[in-house]
Amino acid sequence: MLWSKAFQPSVTGNERQSLITKLVILWNLPRLPLIWILLRRLHNRLEFPWNSTGSWKSLRDSHSLPRSYWGYPIVFMFLLLNSPYRTILRFLIRKEPVVKDTDLYTALLHLRHPWRAREVKLDRAANRIDVWIEHAEGTRFLCPECRKAAPIYDHADEREWRHLDTCDCETYVHARLPRVNCPRHGVRQIIPSWSGTDTSGHTLQFEALVIDTLKECDVSGTMRLTHTGWSESWGVLERAVARGFARKERRIPRLLSVDEKAFAKRHRYETLICDQERGTVEHVVNDRRQESLEAYYQQFTNEELEGIEAVAMDMWDPYIAATKAYVPGADSKIVFDKFHVVRTVTHAVDQVRRKEHKALKAKGDERLKGTKHLWLANKENIPGWRKAEFNVIRGTNLKTGRAWAMKESLRKFWSYRYPRYAEAYFRRWYYWVTHSRLTPMIKAAKTLKAHLANIMTYFKHRISNAVAEGLNSKIQMVKEMACGFRNREHYKKAIYFHCGGLDLYPRSTT
Ligand SMILES: [Zn+2]
Repeated sequence: MLWSKAFQPSVTGNERQSLITKLVILWNLPRLPLIWILLRRLHNRLEFPWNSTGSWKSLRDSHSLPRSYWGYPIVFMFLLLNSPYRTILRFLIRKEPVVKDTDLYTALLHLRHPWRAREVKLDRAANRIDVWIEHAEGTRFLCPECRKAAPIYDHADEREWRHLDTCDCETYVHARLPRVNCPRHGVRQIIPSWSGTDTSGHTLQFEALVIDTLKECDVSGTMRLTHTGWSESWGVLERAVARGFARKERRIPRLLSVDEKAFAKRHRYETLICDQERGTVEHVVNDRRQESLEAYYQQFTNEELEGIEAVAMDMWDPYIAATKAYVPGADSKIVFDKFHVVRTVTHAVDQVRRKEHKALKAKGDERLKGTKHLWLANKENIPGWRKAEFNVIRGTNLKTGRAWAMKESLRKFWSYRYPRYAEAYFRRWYYWVTHSRLTPMIKAAKTLKAHLANIMTYFKHRISNAVAEGLNSKIQMVKEMACGFRNREHYKKAIYFHCGGLDLYPRSTT
């Protein structure tokens, strides 16, 4: 308290002096009567030569003798009291415990015996802390292969690992790792507890921090937040994906969905194979050819492929062919995704609109101008402020209006509970469309009819690609981040990282 106050850097020189004087007085307080008595006794002895009577006897009889006899017990009493007094005083002026920097870092780095921090160096200018760690003498370490204790053979050169920042100072751990001489495996370098074999110059905690940051933002954001370079951040992502795949159990999902996603702005596609139940991307392959999907099926045996119960997909012939070639009983397992089916019809609506708009414009009628998205959206998604406008155009007996009504009524098809009624509904709808004299709509209806068997399988499996809706928004996010990606391999890795449901974090092997 008083002590620590006296040595605080904020205390000025004069204050410190007075505090130290107070401390000295307090410390010597028990001695003061002792000193006084001793001085009195000396004075009594010296009184004789100074005494005018010159007589010893008169001195003893008058006052010196009783006082000098009383002095002994008083001295003794003070000696007795001195020790507890000092203890109390010591308690009152105790110093705050001082933590050594090396002990602090041993604790912060979660180092356990035999490892400890040996030296800590702060570089204020570079905002950097370096910690050197060492192990106790005569320790035996585990052989990384057989996990048996073996004597140390020698030490490798000093290595450096980036650790979590300390108060915004980049923190690096340095150590010379011992190499053990295992009787079975020969000379092997040990794996330290703070890092893994695949964390490349990062401690486990720092690698995990970069992974967490990558999950929240794109690579350039991670670079800014963690003060790392592009290749360093990207390296963490790549290693995390590799780690995830190494740990991933071999299994084939029960419900699959196959979807194509455009990569970048050019018409380059990737085929994404997703697990419907887990909402994860299982596989990403280039293009949307038959071989693309076959590459996924080829990993599995025939028995494993039998475990697939349903595959939701677009009415895309290469996917159909690949599934029929590999999945036993594919005919009853393929389900054409309802959103893709409606999209085919929506596309026809748009063709009708374009043609009609062109014809109207030639006559100076601008009714359809700026209405494209109203016809393409689902009825319930039309913004409130445009509903009135839309209802007016719809009521003006346009071909586009009729086509739109056909598209909207098709959506009802999937709400049936019994396939029999759904099929009857489709037939009525088909009759209506094919008698509408709207060529694009007739074409779309014929496409649907040709694929009806596998549109009807929906009522058996009730799956669509939208089950993984959360997944789609995640993929969209990755695509938006993809502007920073230099090639499609990077894009694929980012999809696995964000949507693969993989176990990405490094773990200590010791
Ligand atoms: Zn071994």
